[in-house]
Order: sequence, then C-alpha cells, then structure tokens
Amino acid sequence: MTDRTKTSLDTYEAVLFDLDGVLTPTAEVHMRAWERMFNAYLDSRGGQPPYTEQDYFDYVDGKPRYDGVRSFLASRGIELPEGTPDDPPDVETVSGLGNRKNVEFSRVLETDGVQAFPGSIRLVDHLEKAGVKVAVVSSSRNARAVLAAAGILDRFPVIVDGNVAAERHLAGKPAPDTFLAAADDLEVLADRAVVVEDALSGVAAGRAGSFGLVVGVDRGAGADRLRESGADVVVADLGELVAE
Ligand SMILES: [Mg+2]
Repeated sequence: MTDRTKTSLDTYEAVLFDLDGVLTPTAEVHMRAWERMFNAYLDSRGGQPPYTEQDYFDYVDGKPRYDGVRSFLASRGIELPEGTPDDPPDVETVSGLGNRKNVEFSRVLETDGVQAFPGSIRLVDHLEKAGVKVAVVSSSRNARAVLAAAGILDRFPVIVDGNVAAERHLAGKPAPDTFLAAADDLEVLADRAVVVEDALSGVAAGRAGSFGLVVGVDRGAGADRLRESGADVVVADLGELVAE
C-alpha cells in the first residue's frame, strides 16, 4: 500500500484511538455475553433448543441492545413486556434481559479477559517512545472496563467514553465533538492530531473535526467505504504504521 510509506504518525502531536475494533477485538466479548445471557434465560424457561452463534448473526448482530433481545425472543415465539431501560437485570422484560446481557459482558471481560490487537499495541508503544500523546475516544460506556481487561488502561491519560460524553453533553460520532474534547484535554489542536477509527461513522467524525489525519482500520467496513467516509489512509492492521 503506497499510503503507508508516506504516513508517519510521529510527526503529529497526538493520536486519538477508537476502542472497539481499533485497540481491542471487543465484538467477541459481546458475542459470548449474548450467548451466556440467552442460554441461561432459555434454560430457566425450559423446552427450548440453545441459542447459537447463528442466532447471533440472524437476530442480534449490529442492532441496538433491546432490539436484539426482542428480535431473538420473537424468533422463539417468546413475547415479553418491554419494561424500561432502568429495569434491574433480574426483571423478566426486554429491557431487563438487555441489561442482563450488559452484566454478562462485564463478567466475560473479568473471567476471559480480552487481548488487544498486537499491531495496535506496537503502534501505541512506538508513539509513546516518540513522545506523541494518546487518548481513547469511544462511544462505549464499558470503555474503561475493556481497557482494564486488556491491561492497557494506564496507557491512556485521556479517555472520552460514553459516560464522559453524557456528563459533558457531547454529541456522539459521526459528530466530531468527542474527538475534539479529547484533543482539547491533551492540549493539542485538531490539525496536529490523528484520528484512528474502524467505523464509517468514526472516520466521518474525524473528517468533520478537520483533524490532521484520519486513519481507517479496515476490520470489515471496506477500504473504499472508509475512504469515502473520510479516511486519508486505510490499513488492515495498525502495526503497518510502525516504522521499521
Ligand atoms: Mg470501533
């Protein structure tokens, strides 16, 4: 890839990393959490075959949490009251089961952990040595737990996650606000900072914020679509950006 040879991230003052799909393969953890939650629930009802990975792709993948619950249950002919988002996880409602999945997510993180992408860690190491500041910018409210489980929480002095965004009333991606807040916290101007993202909405946020460089990591979105959405450079693995 010709992009790579002319791209040296250590000429910038800061690099702002998305988390899920950029630093950690978190989709796996979500899949396992859904599986544990649904299978425990189906067991408790009895008379149902187990939830499978195929169910995940057919009914849950990519949907907002409660939609995933409702959609899978409907496939088994189970209808539950909606409940409300603050239903405790032991309540038998769509919201309750959704919240139960979130509890399971934390449990899977604690027991199984999550392994950061080795190439991403090599880049973070490289930037640290070069004196480039780093931050994590994630929509997830579980960002700190994921970083801790991956053993890299202390590598990022600035973390703008879903909780910080809610507290500070920052608009989510594709708005640039969370990335701009992270640059500001690092005391770096946007045009001296790099955004690293695997989602189309994320690279769009990078472009909207007029950052110095937007790096797309292609974990399935597709290099062309990442470029169309705002990526200046697309790599398959962040290790490609570490100078030999
Ligand atoms: Mg992502």
